[in-house]
Amino acid sequence: MNVIYPGSFDPVTNGHLDIIQRCSKKFNKVIVAVLNNNSKSGFFTIEERLEFLRENTKDIENVEVDSFSGLLIDYAKMKNVNIIIKGLRAVSDYENEMQMALANNKLYPELETLFMVSNTRYSFLSSSLVRELSLFGGDVSCLVPKAVEIALKNKFKGA
Ligand code: ADP
Repeated sequence: MNVIYPGSFDPVTNGHLDIIQRCSKKFNKVIVAVLNNNSKSGFFTIEERLEFLRENTKDIENVEVDSFSGLLIDYAKMKNVNIIIKGLRAVSDYENEMQMALANNKLYPELETLFMVSNTRYSFLSSSLVRELSLFGGDVSCLVPKAVEIALKNKFKGA
């Protein structure tokens, strides 16, 4: 079975990488798909986000890193995949994720969304938290891969 793990990954965190690693052991192939939503300009460019993901998953053979725009269901159909993986951190994630999973299932009934519970070590962690900590000079070295930590420092140094 092949799965898609979609998200903004702006930037990838150790929480995302934990989900990717765990998924790669359970499924034949994991497609990590970065949402390229033109109307919402991100913090890192899509190319930077893809590069961070590629660099940090290069040792996992069955992981593919890609980007998509438009509807996730159309991307899933194009890739011939009907399982979406989402990470669940806290109850606060549930409402949104539930709505999205139901909507996607309505539009594409064969599509199933599976939720993977976050590792307790990372259940507080989000990309936006990492960006905010970095903005004020906080140490994010145990929350993100090294290249992301350096890139964050450089971005805020230049700001
Ligand atoms: P965020 O900006 O909130 O970090 P993304 O849109 O990049 O989120 O998230 C992509 C997917 O990864 C979502 O399913 C999200 O719930 C999940 N995720 C994000 N952070 C974590 C984490 N720390 N642990 C587990 N799953 C996570």
